[in-house]
Amino acid sequence: MAAQFDLDTVIRKVPDFPKPGILFYDVTGILVHPEAFAYCVDVACERYAHAALDAIAAIDARGFVFASPIAYRMSLPLVLVRKNGKLPGRTIKRRFALEYGEDTVEVHRSDVRPGQKILIVDDLIATGGTLKAAADILSEAGAAVAGIFAVIGLPFLNYRNVLAGHEIATLIDYHSEHPE
Ligand code: AMP
Repeated sequence: MAAQFDLDTVIRKVPDFPKPGILFYDVTGILVHPEAFAYCVDVACERYAHAALDAIAAIDARGFVFASPIAYRMSLPLVLVRKNGKLPGRTIKRRFALEYGEDTVEVHRSDVRPGQKILIVDDLIATGGTLKAAADILSEAGAAVAGIFAVIGLPFLNYRNVLAGHEIATLIDYHSEHPE
């Protein structure tokens, strides 16, 4: 069993970052506390130990940090879902809407095989738009999204609607834009 850890004690909340009106949840406080980081990785490995996963997909960039030790510990391939233009091979891309504007993520075609069961990992789920784009790419490649795991969830942004049909797990949820 993973040792319990109260993640709220190490997640810094930064108002008006990176722009006015956004309360930014900073996961760097988790990374500098090894027992907090171990808790995140251990819970994920325990939760999906019997999920018969074939790969872990990691979202650029903070998702990489959490997904990498999970993939290593579970001896699974690690598939990078990258921001546009970073991958040299043939890719599958998805554009998606941001609060202001849009963004694109992509995955190497050769990194995903039809029929694979893949867990997607990110640091935080806000609107769910990035994860939805990642899930759509994996589906287009013929894989099955076995679940979505993130350290932090902001359910008041209604990501469960955007990600309807997917099994979602988070370690800590914040229920309003101004939790204090
Ligand atoms: P979204 O597509 O809206 O779910 O946004 C997801 C990505 O944006 C995550 O990978 C987070 O790293 C980042 N993000 C969005 N909102 C926040 C926030 N309030 N605090 C920290 N990171 C955020």
